[in-house]
Amino acid sequence: MLDNLSIVLVKPSHPGNIGAAARAMKTMGLKQLCLVEPDDFPSGTATALASGADDILAQARVVSSLEEAVADCQFVVGTSARVRGVSLPLVDPRSCAKTILEESSRGSVGLVFGREDKGLTNEQLRLCHLQVHIPTNPDFSSLNLGAAVQVMCYELRMSGLLASGDIELPQVRSHDLATVEDMERFYSHLYETLIEIGFLDHSSHEKIMAKLRRLYGRVRPDRVELSILRGVLSETQRCLDKRS
Ligand code: SAH
Repeated sequence: MLDNLSIVLVKPSHPGNIGAAARAMKTMGLKQLCLVEPDDFPSGTATALASGADDILAQARVVSSLEEAVADCQFVVGTSARVRGVSLPLVDPRSCAKTILEESSRGSVGLVFGREDKGLTNEQLRLCHLQVHIPTNPDFSSLNLGAAVQVMCYELRMSGLLASGDIELPQVRSHDLATVEDMERFYSHLYETLIEIGFLDHSSHEKIMAKLRRLYGRVRPDRVELSILRGVLSETQRCLDKRS
């Protein structure tokens, strides 16, 4: 779906921001970058900041006007921290990402970012259907260009993942949780050891053992963790045996 989406940077002045935008795009699974009259491109600084997203830079379309950049688009979104006199419908990044996802399923979409020092002009915004405002601190509202691209690309990715139900976090390797039987063996071992080291005596153990059960019940150790705990208990008993 997002293959129909182009990120358009209008007259970026700093090549580092082009590289940062490419990196932001690639990490979020976006591919098409369009540059309108960049001051300095291709550039070693852009490549350095792309940090491996060289393919995005190599395939970037370089054009001479915003009109040319979005000529093929059926839907265009402009990004700006500033609300204009005659304002476009204004949305936040999350709902904007949802709209872009819908629009890009039926046609080409351009997401446009302005130049670092000036942002998008009113004329440039008039080519857009929608304006997205990233809700920043009103007293310091302007993000770095690369950071603004990152925020939008992240929202687009999340929106896509939510729509497809594909959110998958990298799996942390885990072992089977201990069973009731494992835990009961552990509690007997723990009880025995606590008696042997003199921490418990036979008459006053119930409350403490109940609290220890509650503690380990909260932790829900897996089998490997439990065998480490059993190892500590066995080693403690071995030391006691050696001493006596
Ligand atoms: N001085 C410019 C800011 C340019 S920052 C101005 O006043 O508009 C470069 C670009 O990053 C902006 O043109 C816009 O595309 C994007 N950007 C930065 N902060 C943003 C925000 N809070 N909301 C939406 N886009 C933002």
